Amino acid sequence: MQVPLQLSPSSISSFRTCPLAWRLDYVERLERTPSLDANIGTFVHSVAEALCGLPASRRTIDEARAAATAAWADHVEDEEWQALQIPADRIPQIKWRAWRAVQRWFRLEDPGAVTVAGCELWVHGEVGGVAMRGIVDRLDVDEATGGFVVTDYKTGKMPMSSYQEERLFGVWVYAHLVADEHRARPVTKVRHLYLGERPGEVVRDVTPDALAATAEVVASTHQEMLQACATGEFETRESVLCGWCSFKSSCPAFGGDLLALLATGPRRVDRRKPVDENQQVLDMDGVRPAVVPAVAPQPVGAPVVGPPVVASPAAGEQPTGSPADVLALAPAAG
Ligand code: SF4
Repeated sequence: MQVPLQLSPSSISSFRTCPLAWRLDYVERLERTPSLDANIGTFVHSVAEALCGLPASRRTIDEARAAATAAWADHVEDEEWQALQIPADRIPQIKWRAWRAVQRWFRLEDPGAVTVAGCELWVHGEVGGVAMRGIVDRLDVDEATGGFVVTDYKTGKMPMSSYQEERLFGVWVYAHLVADEHRARPVTKVRHLYLGERPGEVVRDVTPDALAATAEVVASTHQEMLQACATGEFETRESVLCGWCSFKSSCPAFGGDLLALLATGPRRVDRRKPVDENQQVLDMDGVRPAVVPAVAPQPVGAPVVGPPVVASPAAGEQPTGSPADVLALAPAAG
């Protein structure tokens, strides 16, 4: 068994959560359980990307609705959406959930006031001596400092403060990669925008100590991955997250038949697009930048652990606004 040649932040986090789940997901590349929440997240990201591709003056809620309508038409054609096999009578509810996330985005910030340097930006390089790669949701310019801000949207609810630091791991890795690739400006901030039921912003100033700590985590986790792949020993780490693990029914910690899964479990097809090596962050010098097109590889599916397919909207997640919002979001038959 071999550690993948390039790692993503989610791969590192997966190993730290449970080495066996990481093996099944990132080494064996077994199929994951389709996740509605991950699917809604993909949709909301596509709306945000489309809106940030417009001139700042056009980044309005009405344009967002138009972008959502267009994106939904494409979204329902996607295999990952179709794998969910959502009954038609649940689709309006799901549209509401997705649209509420877009509305919350507008409550957290004015997209028209953001100086966008790139969206869905492919970044790669070394962190802690390990080849890493990933996709930055949005790279902004902080007008106050002139530095870059790495912004990631999260469509779940904002975690309690005690969990916020570990969730930031991915944006810290991206801060490293952006700093190495785009040295014209320093990276001054990383931030998460939580667009779920409990919306909010988590932002941190970038410091050399924080970057060094991230590099250490990457390097030490990589060493543990090498060791596990060399010995074939992958620990199971039971936690509350097992409830969302795609492989729980085959996990030995829960009496599952791991060997049968390894022998017969379907593998994922790699649908990543080739990287466009010409993709670059546009530097501004006072001019509103164009958005870098989304030509990077797509993330390799949903995270190994994630929320289950929901059966109904979460409490407090009832739609607000007029029914026309839902009707405008997508054709009812969607
Ligand atoms: S069910 Fe839990 S312990 Fe088993 S592989 Fe998944 S995350 Fe690991």
